[in-house]
Amino acid sequence: MGKTCAVIGSGIAGLAAAIRISAKGYKVDVYESNSTPGGKISEKHIDGYRFDMGPSVFMLPGLIDELFTLCGKNPKDYFSYKPVKDPFRYFFEDGSIINACSDLNEFAAELELKTGTPPVVFNKYLKDIAVKYDITSGVFIENSLHVLRNYFTKKFISGIFNFNKIDTFKSMDELNRRFFKDKRVIQIFNNYATYIGSDPLTTPATLNVIQHLELNTGVFLPDKGMYDIVNSLTKLAKEIGVTFHLNTPVEEIGVTEGSISGVTLRDGTAVPYDSVVSNMDVYFTYRRLLRSQPAPERILAQPKSTSLLCFYWGINREYPELNLHNLFFAANDNEEYETIFQKGVISSDPSIYLFISSKYVPADAPPGSENWFLLVTAPNDNGQDWDTIRLDTRKKIIEKINRMLRTDIEQHIVCEEFLTPKIILNKYASAFGAVYGNSSNNRFSAFQRHPNFSRKIKGLYFVGGSVHPGAGIPLCLNSAKILEKVFK
Ligand SMILES: Cc1cc2nc3c(=O)[nH]c(=O)nc-3n(C[C@H](O)[C@H](O)[C@H](O)COP(=O)(O)OP(=O)(O)OC[C@H]3O[C@@H](n4cnc5c(N)ncnc54)[C@H](O)[C@@H]3O)c2cc1C
Repeated sequence: MGKTCAVIGSGIAGLAAAIRISAKGYKVDVYESNSTPGGKISEKHIDGYRFDMGPSVFMLPGLIDELFTLCGKNPKDYFSYKPVKDPFRYFFEDGSIINACSDLNEFAAELELKTGTPPVVFNKYLKDIAVKYDITSGVFIENSLHVLRNYFTKKFISGIFNFNKIDTFKSMDELNRRFFKDKRVIQIFNNYATYIGSDPLTTPATLNVIQHLELNTGVFLPDKGMYDIVNSLTKLAKEIGVTFHLNTPVEEIGVTEGSISGVTLRDGTAVPYDSVVSNMDVYFTYRRLLRSQPAPERILAQPKSTSLLCFYWGINREYPELNLHNLFFAANDNEEYETIFQKGVISSDPSIYLFISSKYVPADAPPGSENWFLLVTAPNDNGQDWDTIRLDTRKKIIEKINRMLRTDIEQHIVCEEFLTPKIILNKYASAFGAVYGNSSNNRFSAFQRHPNFSRKIKGLYFVGGSVHPGAGIPLCLNSAKILEKVFK
């Protein structure tokens, strides 16, 4: 028999890892606690509405295509997606609306018209974030920071010489304020820190690379909605021989004399493997599956990203003034960030993100209706009474939507679902309900994530949002790419 590998968890990184290791000739088994694959990329059907429950902003789709070509398949036979034209609409409490156009000249004109921002300043900003991405991608994003030889590559050495350009010592907020004068423009660009559950007032400006992906490379949407990413990758994995074991949590990772020996399932079955890839949050991998092994306490103690409180509403009418992605900003964004990051509670006036996939995928809602997925940033779970917080936040969201859209939204909600930090903790085994693994609130965060391999246990590897290079679909896919490079 050839070499065998168990992948624990079928999140996006687990799926990509299974495909990459299988393509190397290994016999791969994926174990998943839940009844469906995909982890945080999940969906729910209620009364004729389909809701993507997790990610909605899709960037760098080429990283998905790459998995098909790696296996000798044509991606278009499995997975189709399109760029989203003018993806975001930003609503402000003063009544102004700014459209983020995909054509950057149009976006520059929109910013000039609505905020007086000179196009030359916006263009300079676009260049600055592109340079930051260029410098960091080869160093932090596509390679392991834990392999000595990577520190001697041309990209790394060039990164060192251009270190000042990535602005590690400034916060996102500080840098955005240097470029822009209008409060709303700063608010738009500071908001990108929340894409990784971090605070723009402390997160290094290096993380402005997130804006680069959205503005300079674009936002996409799968033709059948976000969950099609999971459906098509699962189909590919099965075709190349990966076996999926759903509803099958792994209880223990077996280690004998410093090497992987296999995994033990909940029913007590011990299955031998040559290697194990954990896509489970690294915190719980050590705390629950490797209890007899010493844990890297300093890494596990790193501050976690924030969580989210989400609402999924079937709406029995259409709102033509809304876009695919919408953001209703808080009146005072700094107060909002201070409340969430320093006091650990949801602001009394939270910024609300609203995703309506039925604007692009009509089958996602009955005719004349819309599927609303709303979310606000929430603190990690530390035993709060989420039922009370949820109901209180729902009320605030309804008040804000009614005020900003001049509507009475409650009478149009015909079905409803929700997701709280506690559910995120329990359903996906995400430590403290954090959505994006460790926070990026300090300049050393990139170096304080767990490597994609174990230094102590031969044959043990890690992928996913809780380890290097971080969370979000593109970075999770990169963790599987790095795994392939370090996998022996
Ligand atoms: C509401 C929400 C909105 C988001 N929005 C975006 C967005 O717009 N764009 C974006 O790029 N990202 C977004 N993200 C983040 C993104 O979803 C995650 O970073 C990414 O999906 C995490 O993937 P992962 O590979 O780390 O695995 P996860 O999705 O965390 O999955 C881990 C899997 O492991 C399984 N597992 C755990 N323990 C065991 C065990 N012992 N045995 C077997 N299986 C186990 C779990 O059941 C789970 O399925 C969002 C997340 C959420 C929740």
